[in-house]
Amino acid sequence: MHELSVAAAIAEVASRHAGGRTVHRVDVRVGYLRQVVPSALEFSWQMVTHETSLEGAALVLEEVPARGSCRACGHSGLLPGFPLCCSACGSLDVAITAGEELVVEAIELDAAAPGEIDRSADSNPHQWSRATGRQTA
Ligand SMILES: [Zn+2]
Repeated sequence: MHELSVAAAIAEVASRHAGGRTVHRVDVRVGYLRQVVPSALEFSWQMVTHETSLEGAALVLEEVPARGSCRACGHSGLLPGFPLCCSACGSLDVAITAGEELVVEAIELDAAAPGEIDRSADSNPHQWSRATGRQTA
């Protein structure tokens, strides 16, 4: 069950970032090409966070559709399904531009530190995303 490893990777990023503070909510962007089943991921999340500092934290998924740009005709747009091909000319020679992400986008921490909502993710989401991607790839 591949969702279990995805959930474990998210939990690792979240708990490392929380540094022992209580986590209320974790927002995650998951690309369509990751083939993650939301209900299975939710179930796995409950499992990996059970009796950890993340227990009770809500996992909020945002699914990112697959997009690509065609090397044959230059068209870029959504890739609605498999096989991944250009919706304009049907070529399979498509460069994926979105849909492979697995990114912890925001972590909502305990209100014990007033208003403290993961500033590092807010101020520099790009860098955070890259670090996360490497972590979970
Ligand atoms: Zn094309």
